Amino acid sequence: MTARIIDGNALSARVRGEIAERAAALSARGVQPCLAVILVGENPASAVYVRNKVAACEKAGIRSLRLDYPADVAPAVVMTKLAELNADPAVHGILVQLPLPPQFDEAAVLEAISVSKDVDGFHAENVGRLSQNQEAFLPCTPHGVMKMFEAEGVPLAGAEAVVIGRSNIVGKPMAMLLTNAGATVTVCHSKTRDLLFHTRRADILVAAIGKPRFVTGDMIKPGATVIDVGINRLQSGPDAGKLCGDVDFDSAREVAGLITPVPGGVGPMTITMLLENTVISAGRAASAAGK
Ligand code: NAD
Repeated sequence: MTARIIDGNALSARVRGEIAERAAALSARGVQPCLAVILVGENPASAVYVRNKVAACEKAGIRSLRLDYPADVAPAVVMTKLAELNADPAVHGILVQLPLPPQFDEAAVLEAISVSKDVDGFHAENVGRLSQNQEAFLPCTPHGVMKMFEAEGVPLAGAEAVVIGRSNIVGKPMAMLLTNAGATVTVCHSKTRDLLFHTRRADILVAAIGKPRFVTGDMIKPGATVIDVGINRLQSGPDAGKLCGDVDFDSAREVAGLITPVPGGVGPMTITMLLENTVISAGRAASAAGK
């Protein structure tokens, strides 16, 4: 069996087209959606992510406000800026690119973002609302994965889902979203004793590990849906310098039923969901202002 590939670029383009229409309609009502993006320091990967987010905003008709600070900035400076952005009615989404330099308390920074502008969905209140299956800003990467399941008609209710990785930004919210959708969810991580036992019975396998080509074909149940969240740059070998996922695509696609590639899978969906959250927030602001 050779798996069908889920084209994240194509799905993204379709959803971004709809988002651009919503952004244009809001702008016509006098509320142009606006996302503020804060970058601290010169981490090259973070700089690329921020550049991509800002460019995607522009393309969708969303205004972006990019704020760059040196790596040694005092946390109070950023906190003061966050308070300003929270109070600014023209700003609908606020994102602080992670990771932050060591002088920052990341949790405190995320908590300082207004819940109603937390378009990354990392504020503890939004996380709590997600865990209670209440309306919330959903973290962009797992939300993007859920959009892929929906677009591909992957049945979730009753499915055995295995998520490898328990980070706050991917693994845990992914597990909560799948639970809310009726899947039977197992979360595996670095302390899991028998990973193979779990992965081999997964109808849906989500890999969010950060280890290149870690999940191989022999770990996958025939016909499973395999979602590769990983983004790794290969350090050595014939493909050195290239991007690859946490799944060994070549062996996995011979076993899986559906699979996401890297690049061109989950990655573009993450930014798409960020744009969607920003437009949702702007829509709420427009309604609240009677526009
Ligand atoms: P993380 O380092 O915070 O978490 C990795 C998780 O993998 C941990 O929970 C750890 O317990 C688990 N793990 C590590 N070794 C393991 C092993 N041998 N067996 C089982 N579990 C193991 O990483 P993260 O922030 O969740 O990101 C994971 C990957 O996804 C990275 O490659 C990252 O670059 C990528 N990522 C992609 C997007 C996107 O838009 N596609 C967004 C966020 C993260």
